[in-house]
Amino acid sequence: MKIGVPKEVRPGERRVAATPESVSRLVKLGFEVLIEKDAGAGAAFPDEEYELAGARTAPSARELWAQADIVLKVQPPEVHPELGHEAELLREGGTLVSFFYPAKNKELIERLARRKATVLAMDQVPRVTRAQKMDALSSMANIAGYRAVIEAASFYGRFFTGQMTAAGKVPPAKMLVIGAGVAGLAAIGAARGLGAIVRAFDTRAEVREQVQSMGAEFLEVTIQEEGSGVGGYAKEMSPEFIAAEMALFLRQARDVDIIITTALVPGKPAPTLITEEMVLAMRPGSVIVDLGAEQGGNCALTQPGGVVVKNGVTIVGYVDLPSRLAPTASQLYSSNLTHLLADMGGAKSFHVDLDDNVVRGALVLKDGELMWPPPKPPAPPPKVPEPRVPAATQPPAPLPAKGGHGAHGGSSAGPGSLWLVLGALTALLLAGSFAPREFVAHLTVFVLACFIGWQVIWNVTPALHTPLMSVTNAISGIIVVGGMLQLSHGIESPVTLLGALAVLVATINIAGGFLVTQRMLRMFRR
Ligand code: NAD
Repeated sequence: MKIGVPKEVRPGERRVAATPESVSRLVKLGFEVLIEKDAGAGAAFPDEEYELAGARTAPSARELWAQADIVLKVQPPEVHPELGHEAELLREGGTLVSFFYPAKNKELIERLARRKATVLAMDQVPRVTRAQKMDALSSMANIAGYRAVIEAASFYGRFFTGQMTAAGKVPPAKMLVIGAGVAGLAAIGAARGLGAIVRAFDTRAEVREQVQSMGAEFLEVTIQEEGSGVGGYAKEMSPEFIAAEMALFLRQARDVDIIITTALVPGKPAPTLITEEMVLAMRPGSVIVDLGAEQGGNCALTQPGGVVVKNGVTIVGYVDLPSRLAPTASQLYSSNLTHLLADMGGAKSFHVDLDDNVVRGALVLKDGELMWPPPKPPAPPPKVPEPRVPAATQPPAPLPAKGGHGAHGGSSAGPGSLWLVLGALTALLLAGSFAPREFVAHLTVFVLACFIGWQVIWNVTPALHTPLMSVTNAISGIIVVGGMLQLSHGIESPVTLLGALAVLVATINIAGGFLVTQRMLRMFRR
């Protein structure tokens, strides 16, 4: 099965849909790869490297389109400078995989339908956990966020980081990032890396911890409104909320040097959040980079694709930020494509599986038949609010179950828990009167240990379980010592067996704790 990778024809597009690295993976998947001459030149991948990786350079672009069973591209097909429309070059019944934006490209869909084409749109890959490795939108947003900071740095005439020099003190740059999705978080990371003070705002409160963990301050407005919509994306906010956040941005505009806006709501034009008044409130020399430019812009003065200067403030509206980091963008995009083709069976059993929700989500045409938009997944059952029972008639609170959170367990003491406490006290009293002294001492330690262990483990949020595991290693260490002391009772004694079991389990816990902690640390290491 032949894959064809043509050179992108859109002016200024430097990315390419395959790199020498992805070619060798495609070859391993059983594909034959044809590449157009100079296809990777804009991303610094020479033809010889593709050939070394196992690709064949096609004699001409027309030949490549005519021979390929599957064409991999970055941009949707458009008019080729010499050969007419690319859609007409695809062989009849061929497959095309590229960014496609089907909602905006009705005419293109019709053209390809006439050629009985199968089309998969990389921008339509559903953003579910299983599809993360094929999520080209996230790959590109990550690059755009990083590059936005680099563009801001190139227009901003000062250091990002603060410095104390013999000649004087240079304050650090202050940056505001609006929208902390994939691009916003990448921008925060890059700006923090350069030493700027970063603040961020997002309508989705759930991103607060991510923002803070990257060293930025999370700004808030007094109006409470949940910004999360379907699939973790933002929903359109109420006019009151937008007004409140714009008041916050006006205050921030007077203080910060750089604003990077990434606020988008899927399927809607970008909300206008930075007005002319805010631009005028910024100090001359400040910079705004508007990543919403392609969807109309988050700033009222943005010129999509260009740069404007108003009152000394530079507003950057580039719409080709990923293409400005073409080698990395091509590497990540081609890797997303390779994962999709592997998911579709590789060359040996390549097929369009309509039951695969990732493939179904990305499918626009199948053998010329319109498949987009895909059927909506069944909506999760609506949350039924728990009936509010008056306190006096509330049933006794259940005991905290395994895996539940103890935070709710202790406070609601109904008659059931009262009986339990009374029962436990009576048992203790009886044990104190009749059992040997040592037994009572051990029992007290045991009960206290259970209580503390339960409080320590059940009340910790799952996000902190890894540090918790490191701490519990200390406890496991004590258990190992205790267990070893019991090993001298002779092989047949149950005490020895229990001691050995304690040593084994605690050792597994310690080793596992170290392994997981090391893994986590490696993720944060640069
Ligand atoms: P996006 O590009 O559509 O939006 C960017 C950000 O703008 C979002 O964080 C959004 O909340 C914010 N925003 C929208 N309106 C705003 C307003 N008025 N003011 C301030 N901020 C506003 O989103 P994205 O970055 O592509 O993805 C958003 C989220 O989707 C991710 O953070 C993640 O939760 C989810 N996601 C999941 C997966 C996955 O599971 N595979 C992949 C990608 C994204």
